[in-house]
Amino acid sequence: MLPPFELSQPTTLPEALSALAAGDGQPYAGGTILVPDLRGGREKCRRFISLAGLEELRFIGHDDEGTTLGACTTIADIAKDPEMAIAAPALAAAADVFAGAMVRSVATIGGNICCGSPSADMVPALLTLGAEVTLSNSEGKRKIPLSAFYADYKKSVLKPGELLTAVSWKPLRQSASHLFFKLARRKGDAITVTGVSVMMAANDGKCSKVRIALGSVAPTVFRASQAEDMLRGRALTAELIEKAAKAAADQCSPIDDSRASAAYRLQTAQALVRRQLTQAWHQASSV
Ligand SMILES: Cc1cc2nc3c(=O)[nH]c(=O)nc-3n(C[C@H](O)[C@H](O)[C@H](O)COP(=O)(O)OP(=O)(O)OC[C@H]3O[C@@H](n4cnc5c(N)ncnc54)[C@H](O)[C@@H]3O)c2cc1C
Repeated sequence: MLPPFELSQPTTLPEALSALAAGDGQPYAGGTILVPDLRGGREKCRRFISLAGLEELRFIGHDDEGTTLGACTTIADIAKDPEMAIAAPALAAAADVFAGAMVRSVATIGGNICCGSPSADMVPALLTLGAEVTLSNSEGKRKIPLSAFYADYKKSVLKPGELLTAVSWKPLRQSASHLFFKLARRKGDAITVTGVSVMMAANDGKCSKVRIALGSVAPTVFRASQAEDMLRGRALTAELIEKAAKAAADQCSPIDDSRASAAYRLQTAQALVRRQLTQAWHQASSV
């Protein structure tokens, strides 16, 4: 049963930030994590500040400087955006395989980032875009790389009174490859067992830029930085890709749970990184 709770409903960002500063509760965006957690007794908070009335946080902006998404942009908004397949192909792909239509229509990008779940599907693609998050409070705002946002399992550097208000990234190079693959127990509406995103650009027959991010195989979604270092500046071969995939798997620390064993997650992480690097290299180096 859903326990009783209080919900304040600000209609502007300054109102929401002053309610947060006054300690009037925790942000409530789409509620697709909060409601099941309240029902299941995992969420102890009983006072929430709804973000649903903050239209200024629900937008997608593309320009020459890159793309910015307001925190209350829903996953369905991202899936429907005609420019997303060019601005962030892996993010568009992640939105397409995210939950079912009902959840997608209310779940927000801000909630996906802030829940801190290692299986949050939008985060690997945002990490491979090199995205930054804007954190606002009643005094002002700061921007930090998304790669510096997570401290540990379901823990972030968000301070009390702060709200994630936007996520943004610079344009992808036109010839870059940007991929996401979600391995789950079935195709639709399932929590990710292993998620991998890769961004790669090539120049003069060499890999000039690469980012690799993995989900569901460690306490947080993370960048496989050792594997990236092995590839940057090199012409990729099957042997080098295999070594990088092994290095990425070595950075994983998965757990056994009802969806998969840790051993299966490790094996699939290596296989998916190998597969995505191979595909990304073919795409990026053939342009
Ligand atoms: C049936 C079902 C299927 C699902 N499938 C998937 C899936 O395929 N992939 C996936 O990644 N997830 C999935 N989820 C999980 C969930 O839908 C997503 O993580 C979603 O993006 C959470 O967003 P929300 O707006 O609903 O967050 P909420 O539940 O409103 O909030 C989640 C947490 O984030 C905090 N928060 C929210 N917004 C902000 C903000 N702007 N600033 C600071 N803190 C904030 C809240 O205080 C809360 O702690 C599923 C959930 C359900 C119920």
